[in-house]
Amino acid sequence: MTRSVEDCAGFCRDCGREHVLPAAPAMPHALALMAEMEARGSIAAPGCDDPRLGLDYLFGPARGQMFGVLVCQDGRGNERVLKAFSGQYNGVWEVPGWVPPIVDPARFQSTIRDDEPRIKALTARIAALSPEDPLRRDLLAERRALSAGLMERIFDLYRPANFRGQSRALRDVFLGRAMPTGTGECCAPKLLHHAALHGLVPMALAEFYVGRENLSGTRTHGRFCAPCAEKCRPILGFMLCGIDELRFGAATP
Ligand SMILES: [Zn+2]
Ligand SMILES: [Zn+2]
Repeated sequence: MTRSVEDCAGFCRDCGREHVLPAAPAMPHALALMAEMEARGSIAAPGCDDPRLGLDYLFGPARGQMFGVLVCQDGRGNERVLKAFSGQYNGVWEVPGWVPPIVDPARFQSTIRDDEPRIKALTARIAALSPEDPLRRDLLAERRALSAGLMERIFDLYRPANFRGQSRALRDVFLGRAMPTGTGECCAPKLLHHAALHGLVPMALAEFYVGRENLSGTRTHGRFCAPCAEKCRPILGFMLCGIDELRFGAATP
């Protein structure tokens, strides 16, 4: 099979090789989704007019976001197309018609409830101090410890699933040392996790950018991109594990 740069792929430690899901067959579905979003001016389901879900958000200060579609087959061989936006959309975790996040938003909120205001308060105190103030160093260290502890507890909430019926803690799956904030919140992990939990077999996955171009010009409106190298590729090997057997049968590597 020929590979394209937009393909969804990652090295799997269990199998000692890479698992790959092609992007090209999902691109027509992605283009249709893009056209539908643009025609509606919103990511909301028809009949819903939540102003937070307007497309203008992507062209404002927030500067745009990644979207993704996953083409799957259900148990009867019917095609199913799942769609996702990365992270939250304008502060909204769950939008009907879009796959939910891997983490339960209620558990996420209760996890950050105590520490986030403390971190914000420390940030405000630090900003008010002069750079020479000895207290500043102590407060910076306190904030660093608080943030690191919070990040660990947030990561504990994510247990991505794969296509062998396994679920593991993010830190046991991630290939590399430091997991960036937001690992597990991009489109590909959300889509694959949802498919794995619902007995859907992934056939193709495409991610694309919608919104204002970023400053470096690497993200332009409507452009297809591979799942990101920083947060996604290090967990995709695990998350894609088992798809080859489901797609091609046990005999094919
Ligand atoms: Zn990513
Ligand atoms: Zn594997």
